[in-house]
Amino acid sequence: MNSPRDLKAPRNGTADRLGRPLRDLRISVTDRCNFRCVYCMPKEVFGKDYAFLERRELLTFEEIARLARIFSGLGVEKVRLTGGEPLVRRNLEQLIELLAAIPGLDLTLTTNGSFLARKARALKAAGLKRITVSLDALEDAVFRRLNDVDFPVAKVLEGIEAAAAAGLAPIKVNMVVKRGENDASILPMARHFRESGHILRFIEYMDVGHTNGWRMDDVVPAREIVERIGREWPLEPIDPNYPGEVAERWRYRDGRGEIGVIASVTQAFCRTCTRVRLSTEGQLYTCLFATSGHDLRALVRGGASDEDIRAAVSGIWARRADRYSEIRTSQTARLQKIEMSYIGG
Ligand code: SAM
Repeated sequence: MNSPRDLKAPRNGTADRLGRPLRDLRISVTDRCNFRCVYCMPKEVFGKDYAFLERRELLTFEEIARLARIFSGLGVEKVRLTGGEPLVRRNLEQLIELLAAIPGLDLTLTTNGSFLARKARALKAAGLKRITVSLDALEDAVFRRLNDVDFPVAKVLEGIEAAAAAGLAPIKVNMVVKRGENDASILPMARHFRESGHILRFIEYMDVGHTNGWRMDDVVPAREIVERIGREWPLEPIDPNYPGEVAERWRYRDGRGEIGVIASVTQAFCRTCTRVRLSTEGQLYTCLFATSGHDLRALVRGGASDEDIRAAVSGIWARRADRYSEIRTSQTARLQKIEMSYIGG
């Protein structure tokens, strides 16, 4: 693992209390989703009576773009749009255009892929650079059971191909692995994506939020995933693309591609975490497992200048000492943490 020393010194002094620079901004553009993945937005909680945010509560595209510009000035190099399902937010291409105009920003998006076949070209034309698609199984019945809205896997696979054809490659495909739920899909997924040019990444099931009833027993450790795949197709480790990359990279010894594993539970990477998260309604969270955020919308709508906002964010980051995954226990897993669907993955 990289130590904070391996991370480049902050361009402009924005380092937190553990010396970590601010580099990545994840923006949740909606708290709504057309899927009800059983481990993320279970139907029993996110049913028809669930109070999603009202439109006026959401940051507008202009407000998001203004904040993104300020973050860019503070050293953020990469922006990822997420949600909820980002592609359910109407006219998202307009936001992408605004963000793509910010110089030097790597702009990407995480999606469940359900609207991609229809939207990939427009997203690319608006200035999106890359895309990550979440896909938890290849077997149609397993996939439908997991998304819990009977959505067919074929349409997501079609979306992935449409994204590649539109020039959003290399596409990352993220699979969250939950023991007993979809771990039997690990090898079929590896087989399917091995020669596709897309990069399959396996994510340990995490105790985000407090509605998914997480237990350590549900986690399939990244080590085990690498072993299972390596027995079938030998693997060798490769270097990270950049210091602080969350995925540990492995390549097939026969040259047929690479995979990644994101061991957020069994090998926490808080020490190199350079991410900050902006919720749909403009709350800033310095950790995915936070229990409270900082209200940037109040500043934006209260007439604060760019410099005021910049100073506020800089101060929030300077005070940051979060390292939740390093201190996780079954007790902390029960905290009232914010939901993943609200803050984005
Ligand atoms: N709707 C988009 C999507 O499906 O990618 C973006 C938001 S979704 C919350 C982002 C990612 O978080 C998805 O890959 C999802 O599988 C993952 N996720 C949700 N709950 C998780 C959990 N408990 N542990 C690990 N990953 C989780």
